[in-house]
Amino acid sequence: MASAPDVAIVGSGFGGLAAAIALRRAGVEQVTIYERAEALGGTWRDNTYPGAACDVPSNLYSFSFAHNPAWSRRFAPWREIRDYLEACADRFDVRRLIRFGCGVQAARWDGDAARWRLTLDDGSEASAAVLVPACGGLSRPWTPAIPGADDFEGERWHTARWRHDVPVEGKRVGIIGTGASAVQVVPEVAGQAEHLTVFQRTAHWVLSKPDGAVSPRRQRAYAAWPSLQTLARWWTYWRLEWRVLGFVHLPKVMRLVEAEGRAHLKSAVPDPALRARLTPPYTLGCKRVLLSNTYLQALQRPDVSLVTAGIEAITPEGVRTADGVTHPLDVLVYATGFDAAEAGPPFEVTGLAGQSLADAWADAPQAYKGCTVAGFPNLFMLVGPNTGLGHSSMIFMIAS
Ligand SMILES: Cc1cc2nc3c(=O)[nH]c(=O)nc-3n(C[C@H](O)[C@H](O)[C@H](O)COP(=O)(O)OP(=O)(O)OC[C@H]3O[C@@H](n4cnc5c(N)ncnc54)[C@H](O)[C@@H]3O)c2cc1C
Repeated sequence: MASAPDVAIVGSGFGGLAAAIALRRAGVEQVTIYERAEALGGTWRDNTYPGAACDVPSNLYSFSFAHNPAWSRRFAPWREIRDYLEACADRFDVRRLIRFGCGVQAARWDGDAARWRLTLDDGSEASAAVLVPACGGLSRPWTPAIPGADDFEGERWHTARWRHDVPVEGKRVGIIGTGASAVQVVPEVAGQAEHLTVFQRTAHWVLSKPDGAVSPRRQRAYAAWPSLQTLARWWTYWRLEWRVLGFVHLPKVMRLVEAEGRAHLKSAVPDPALRARLTPPYTLGCKRVLLSNTYLQALQRPDVSLVTAGIEAITPEGVRTADGVTHPLDVLVYATGFDAAEAGPPFEVTGLAGQSLADAWADAPQAYKGCTVAGFPNLFMLVGPNTGLGHSSMIFMIAS
């Protein structure tokens, strides 16, 4: 029998760990995980901002083969998710496969040897028969190029690089962005900061979050009867999955969810003028739908302002908006999301006949089932074209 190939996985987040665990279960022992950071966990190592948590229930947002009866909340906070990934790396004995501080800069297919040649951050080379990029769709923070940003005299950072060494208490804080990270961090900073200014470009649809503490009784039940948690997981899966009907086949169904969004907004924001500014100008589903029970409430605090005039520039003192007003700030936080990797690994990949993946995809990215690409042998992507960023969630379902 032919021996199993050796595999290089790039990234040690949910995806890379799932791939390593599944490969080992399939009898592939020669696996190396290249991780550019000094710790594992990807998203859940990097996003430590106050309030960071998942917005898919933890019973589902976890490996199907590794239930965690100890989740403290239905939507676990980042620290628990990171600890869970750390624990899984040990439990499934894949930590020893990780080369930390070892980023991959390029991968080139060597047809003669039938191997991928990897160039690493330190200039050294490595090789493997199979390459699995698991670099994540949201691992590179994105900040908009706003004129004057470098002149700002206060502190500024991105939510994915939270400065825990700079307390926000008693400071004038500005948060740019009103997306998924913002709705989590705004309620946490409000009340701590002397004043919080939230800069909104587009309002998002916000639904209530069915969150809550998991009772010790339920935790004990999950621990004693794991199949109960499996049931809860499938229940959650199908409860969320039916929405595909609306997203893909019957857009009219989204009107029902939109009505839910309007009702949530109306009950949370009594002031019609503020409500109008918080009403999204697009059909629900065109942007990520957000879940929060505290965001809209936080915006109505006397020490919080919502600014909807566009940002014109950052000045040494703060942020100047298109209406000519300068908002004085001590701290500026970018909750502006990520340079989303829509398709392909974030490093140069060269396949058969020296063709780069960028060239092969010059017209449009194409991959078989979003995973393998003609002309790039033994390359298996976890987040490929048309898989969407939710694809990595699928890995959790199928890696069992
Ligand atoms: C704040 C936040 C909340 C989220 N909440 C949810 C949620 O509730 N539900 C959901 O489904 N999704 C959520 N996501 C999306 C989340 O990113 C994915 O669910 C999942 O964690 C991605 O796992 P991954 O392994 O694919 O990528 P990541 O977790 O991003 O891991 C990629 C790893 O690859 C490493 N890497 C990247 N490039 C290289 C390189 N060139 N060389 C070596 N290593 C490299 C990175 O350092 C990182 O460790 C959230 C994202 C964020 C930012």
